Amino acid sequence: MSYRSPVAELRFILDKVVPLAPVSATEKFAEATGETVDAILTEAAKLCDEVMAPLIRNGDLHPAKLENGVVRSSPGFKEAYEQIAEGGWVGISSPVEYGGMGLPLTMAIAVNDMMSGANLALQLNPLLTQGQIDALEHHASDEIKELYLPKLISGEWSGTMNLTEPQAGSDVGALRTKAEPNGDGTYSVTGQKIFISWGDSDMTKNVCHLVLARLPDGAPGTKGISLFMVPKYLPDANGEPGVANSLKVVSLEHKMGLHGSPTCVMSFEGAKGWMVDGPNKGMAAMFTMMNNARLNVGVEGIGIAEGAYQKALQYAQDRVQFKPIIEHADVRRMLASMKAEVFAARSIALACAVAIDMGHATGDEAWTARAALLTPIAKAYGTDTGMWVSDQGIQVHGGMGFIEETGAAQYFRDVRVTAIYEGTNGIQSMDLVGRKMMDGGKAAFRLLQEVEEDAKAGREALPDLADAVWQAAETLREHTEWMIGQDMQDRFAGSVPYLKAFARVLGAHFHLRAAIAEGAGSRHAKLAAVYIRRLLPQFAAALAEAREGAEGLYALSVEDLSA
Ligand SMILES: Cc1cc2nc3c(=O)[nH]c(=O)nc-3n(C[C@H](O)[C@H](O)[C@H](O)COP(=O)(O)OP(=O)(O)OC[C@H]3O[C@@H](n4cnc5c(N)ncnc54)[C@H](O)[C@@H]3O)c2cc1C
Repeated sequence: MSYRSPVAELRFILDKVVPLAPVSATEKFAEATGETVDAILTEAAKLCDEVMAPLIRNGDLHPAKLENGVVRSSPGFKEAYEQIAEGGWVGISSPVEYGGMGLPLTMAIAVNDMMSGANLALQLNPLLTQGQIDALEHHASDEIKELYLPKLISGEWSGTMNLTEPQAGSDVGALRTKAEPNGDGTYSVTGQKIFISWGDSDMTKNVCHLVLARLPDGAPGTKGISLFMVPKYLPDANGEPGVANSLKVVSLEHKMGLHGSPTCVMSFEGAKGWMVDGPNKGMAAMFTMMNNARLNVGVEGIGIAEGAYQKALQYAQDRVQFKPIIEHADVRRMLASMKAEVFAARSIALACAVAIDMGHATGDEAWTARAALLTPIAKAYGTDTGMWVSDQGIQVHGGMGFIEETGAAQYFRDVRVTAIYEGTNGIQSMDLVGRKMMDGGKAAFRLLQEVEEDAKAGREALPDLADAVWQAAETLREHTEWMIGQDMQDRFAGSVPYLKAFARVLGAHFHLRAAIAEGAGSRHAKLAAVYIRRLLPQFAAALAEAREGAEGLYALSVEDLSA
């Protein structure tokens, strides 16, 4: 069986679990009616299933190549990309005035979920362009917007994000790339960037790099960083690609997976650039792009998990060992857990997207705070789910999972980087317990209160499941109160397990909602029981670890670790 986009599941979640209805009820997104949602999901699914998914092995077996300074994409990618662009899929949630569809981000997230399951390496290209569109929309001058947004939204040009340098990874403030004013409003950008996804390709007529660099008088650290638009070809008087800019791809990385996505070492050699937003405001602008990308990367994990699950499910029905292996209890356990994890992670990501849309449409701070709280959870849990489910997918295949020809291993290799890029999952967790709790936990407590109220309301229909969710939310609330009183070092030491516990509670909450919506004995009620009875209890172990703080870790000295 080949990949089939989960249209019905997405539709169910947007109807019953994380309703899109409040978003569609706003003036800004009034067009996002049920009919539009159906049309978007159905059309995008055709592209995913018939055009993108059949190319997934091509990306793995025939990686992008650097030939005479130009990146040649994997066979078939260019043609598939043209269909993505022609269908308007790059600009689903981009402003109508620049050629976008103007739909809620939630729709783009649902489509990106399907596209990631179909072909992650290819999907990463439009995903980065979407992030760039978002950053330009919010931070660029009208001149830059008018020139670049229509081309990016139509997919004629693509966008990249250039943060990382050899010495500046998680510590972006250590970057050394320089931007010197040319005296005519433009800048000369010089420096080396590494790990730049889709830093070049033959799929688009221009590649627009958003580059973080420091002005000559820029302060050290993140405070002195500015953001520049540095296109591969300088736009001519008609806004078409003109002369080549002074930048090049030095080499492509050889990677564990995601071979279809070229990861470039870039050299900027006095390349002409235009500042986006003001001097030293680079991090704020880049954060707009990164926040968009963080949620999308979480969704990449979910898409891969879906693909890996579908493959494992099929294999388990075909493979006979005494009987079809799907009839063995342990295989059934793996498949049920995989499906339950995907549902939970998908619901959390969509809840984050809905909060972002509600924040934009209403300006209500509570929605914006909800979105900020959910972003690191959606990113880390989505990608952890991608890794765990694709790992289980290999296990279901037995020895054949370790053999490349089944494709089960490719999911595992491809998804691994999603827990690393866009800020490692460790950095996401620190963001959750640090910056996202600067409000004294207000956004977290408000969300947990909703979880508890929902659980109370569900007691009549599904008492066992509802009680378990209420109890878990209450325990998490108590832990959060305790944690806010701890110093940062102790919070950071427990941040990864704390995020996992938070995600577990939210996952259980959404499963419970689905179960109540469909009723006792329904498919979703059975799946919810798997999640709440078997997976939710892990939250308690995670919180126990989170409570341990840092002392015990540092008690074990570097010498002890080396002994
Ligand atoms: C395939 C691929 C594609 C990529 N695409 C892009 C791209 O398009 N654009 C771009 O700019 N970058 C890109 N990156 C870079 C990516 O974002 C970085 O790899 C990532 O941010 C981590 O940085 P690093 O590799 O230097 O690891 P490091 O920062 O060296 O981290 C190593 C380990 O230390 C931990 N760590 C580091 N600092 C802290 C801290 N303060 N507290 C706790 N733990 C910490 C990390 O969590 C990690 O576990 C890509 C990377 C890869 C592999």
